[in-house]
Amino acid sequence: MADVAFNEVDKIYDNGVQAVFDLTLDVHDGEFLVLVGPSGCGKTTALRMVAGLEDISGGTVSIGGRVVNNVSSKERDIAMVFQNYALYPHLSVAENIAFGLRLRKEAKAVINERVAWAAKLLDLTPYLDRRPKELSGGQRQRVAMGRAIVRKPQVFLMDEPLSNLDAKLRVQMRADIAKLQKELGTTTVYVTHDQIEAMTMGDRVAVMSKGVLQQVDAPQRLYDRPENLFVASFIGTPPMNLLDVPVQSANGGVSITLGGASLTLPDEVLREYPRVREYAGGNVAIGLRAGDLHPASDHADLPTFRARVELVESLGSESMAYFRVDNFTIRSEASRGRVVSTARTAAPDRRGAGRRRPEARPLLRQANGCATSLMARSQRSPRSR
Ligand code: ADP
Ligand code: MG
Repeated sequence: MADVAFNEVDKIYDNGVQAVFDLTLDVHDGEFLVLVGPSGCGKTTALRMVAGLEDISGGTVSIGGRVVNNVSSKERDIAMVFQNYALYPHLSVAENIAFGLRLRKEAKAVINERVAWAAKLLDLTPYLDRRPKELSGGQRQRVAMGRAIVRKPQVFLMDEPLSNLDAKLRVQMRADIAKLQKELGTTTVYVTHDQIEAMTMGDRVAVMSKGVLQQVDAPQRLYDRPENLFVASFIGTPPMNLLDVPVQSANGGVSITLGGASLTLPDEVLREYPRVREYAGGNVAIGLRAGDLHPASDHADLPTFRARVELVESLGSESMAYFRVDNFTIRSEASRGRVVSTARTAAPDRRGAGRRRPEARPLLRQANGCATSLMARSQRSPRSR
């Protein structure tokens, strides 16, 4: 086992595209680290630099404390699992799993023992004689995993290994892979564009956008304490509402205007985000998670604003209701400052302000049979009738 360290890593492709900017990230020994971000943000590039499949333009990548920039892929002691599985169609499951070991000329007894071990772990024992085309998507995926684990590498590198599976199987496989990784204890870097996959699988999650690492943290920390607007909007379902609100200071207190009402910020918020005072007379971005809003009738102690519910969506265990408030919606792309989770101290970018819709559409979520809670979600496109 080994740790993996990116140190100020850049990647510039021959055509001049810079896919990764100054990436510094430590993946601890035995850790399951998920690299997540939208398509094209540089995840695969970062992973391929660890694998030795892509040259490193600047900085260093180390595995187990050894800089591997000039070490060939074969000598890095890593195993990679790809999205398309890359199985050999003419070989049986057992031969596919054994392939890497054969190449390394392992003893036959060792190969047989390892293949049996992997097949058992992955529930593939009954299928060892089949060809890949005689397997379901999920079984093929497990064969690809088997081929990686029999090599007992220092590091697993997985690039969207579940994207080709249907939704239900994906949920099952993500639990299986996370469990397998815990059993093996092998350092793993796992790439996905799916924030739910990232949140459910990772010990820690590294969020990337446009080639730049935004934040790396435990999943709950990312959710509770996003460090910037990109992470705030990317992590969580439904996405956090980001609203541009005026700030006023009066009698030593600070208030914001939301939905036409003036809401005083509690002392604990001011202690946590003292810089919000500096924006009095201007605007800040605030983030509202739907689950942190409550119907006024349930929480007489909290500040309130009025809104008319326009649409209720029933999702079975809960319902969501949409309503408008009189504030601008913030697009995460438009603002680059560091933010705080309830009152952002970043000054919102004013470009394009004239084009914004002067409204946001928060969302009400009701837990059936339990206390009702109000959720907020801002949307640019109307979903009401
Ligand atoms: P992700 O895996 O997050 O979707 P990639 O790492 O594949 O993103 O790509 C990051 C950026 O690098 C994209 O803009 C992509 O077009 C570009 N890119 C990827 N591979 C190459 C390549 N071989 N040559 C030039 N540009 C590339
Ligand atoms: Mg990719």
